[in-house]
Amino acid sequence: MTPKNSDPQSLSFLDSLIENLPNMVFVKDAKSLRFVRMNRAGEDLLGTKRSELIGKNDFDFFPEEQARFFTEKDRLVLAGKAVVDIPSEPIHTRHKGLRLLHTKKIPLLDDQGSPEFLLGISEDITEKVQAEEQRLRLVREQAALEERNLANARTEFLASSTAALASSLDSKQTLEVLQKLLVPFLAEECSFTLIGEIKFAKFEQSTGAPFLPKKILIPIALGGRIFGVLCLVTRSDFSVADKNLANELGRRAGIAIEHAHLYETARSAIRSRDEFVSIASHELKTPITALKMQLQMARMGIKSDHAPSPMQLGRALDLALAQVSRLTALIDDLLDLSRIEAGRFSFSFEEVDLGQLTKEVVERYRNNLGGQAFAIEAEALGALPVQCDRTRMEQVLLNLLSNAAKYGAGKPVRVQVERCGTRARLSVVDHGIGIAQEKLDKIFERFERVASSSHISGLGLGLYITREILKGHQGTVAVQSRVGEGSTFIVELPLL
Ligand code: ADP
Repeated sequence: MTPKNSDPQSLSFLDSLIENLPNMVFVKDAKSLRFVRMNRAGEDLLGTKRSELIGKNDFDFFPEEQARFFTEKDRLVLAGKAVVDIPSEPIHTRHKGLRLLHTKKIPLLDDQGSPEFLLGISEDITEKVQAEEQRLRLVREQAALEERNLANARTEFLASSTAALASSLDSKQTLEVLQKLLVPFLAEECSFTLIGEIKFAKFEQSTGAPFLPKKILIPIALGGRIFGVLCLVTRSDFSVADKNLANELGRRAGIAIEHAHLYETARSAIRSRDEFVSIASHELKTPITALKMQLQMARMGIKSDHAPSPMQLGRALDLALAQVSRLTALIDDLLDLSRIEAGRFSFSFEEVDLGQLTKEVVERYRNNLGGQAFAIEAEALGALPVQCDRTRMEQVLLNLLSNAAKYGAGKPVRVQVERCGTRARLSVVDHGIGIAQEKLDKIFERFERVASSSHISGLGLGLYITREILKGHQGTVAVQSRVGEGSTFIVELPLL
């Protein structure tokens, strides 16, 4: 019984199947790698009749580089006796130019298991690859467009946020504005904490590192200082561009807060200066009023029938002179202040015995107290030569003595000068109202007057000037005090 064409087991059935497949099917001789078979799809693809192909090899038809590639693969298949899949290989064709093939090469073995033929099946994937490339190009273009739009939106957002940040000089208000801008542009929720100023070391600079899923912390920072933290809650992971934007905003918020701080500092400096001007005016007015009163009384006495006796006149003039001295002292302090601020506070140094100087100043001060009940006792232990500006050092002593008198509650004051290692030490000890612990540092500041002493007159400049004078002498001034028990001011100068 001869097999019929319609019998799927028959050779002619397989022949017609191979002949009509849409893919190129070819068979090569395993030894010579010459074509022994080619189907119609192969003829169409290569533009070559099978009669021309059979008995020839790849080098007869294809450019050398391609032919070498094909035969290399053939050898691989035959040596390994295994199927090789070549996902994409270029091939030169006669009428269709360069095409791309997806080829499978299969070894056909004889009864002994040795390769006899090589079967190749190739699909022309040129159009498919082109379509895929086109699709990818479109996707890339679309993504680039979206990224450009996003970048534009970010730039616009940054510009409007910067304007908003600059709109207020109040840190909290500034951040509230920023908070409103961030939602929903960058985040679903946004909160902030102002933490004053702490060192960067406490914070990770890897900003945007999520501490909790979808929660991102952005430092509000400028340079090495961090003023607070913005906490953003987002739907999805932040892109690098989003993180950069958020960090940039954090930095700009830092600048805004720095401005707010500077503004606040400037305002408070202006406030305390205004306060000082009003205190200074009041302080200057008081002796002028007293002086005017003394002079008016003397004038009226001379005009009236009862002319004042020379003694009465003398007393009135003494009182008037005391007011003039007070005025002079106040003006001297003001002049010193402006010299210090202008950096023109200068000294003329000479060698002085601090013990001797102290004794002299205490004596002079005692004589000028004008009957005020107040005992000062001065003790100098040995010679204490120092290099100093005599007038300025007298000023230091007078400041400390007059404070001891003002705040000493009328109790005795002790002044002692002694050697302390390589330094001369001067202590002024009173038993007066004392100074609260938290105010101890402040009293040496400009314009600082402790509230409890506001009923006693003064510009709050004496100790500031004292400290500046001692700075110019490589010296120090310090205080120890307890409220209600008294104060001890200690001045130290390097000994010669
Ligand atoms: P003033 O005495 O003009 O206010 P100072 O600079 O000399 O300015 O002193 C600053 C402040 O320090 C005073 O207002 C006062 O509150 C406090 N103070 C200074 N000396 C004493 C002292 N011996 N005892 C208590 N308080 C003092």
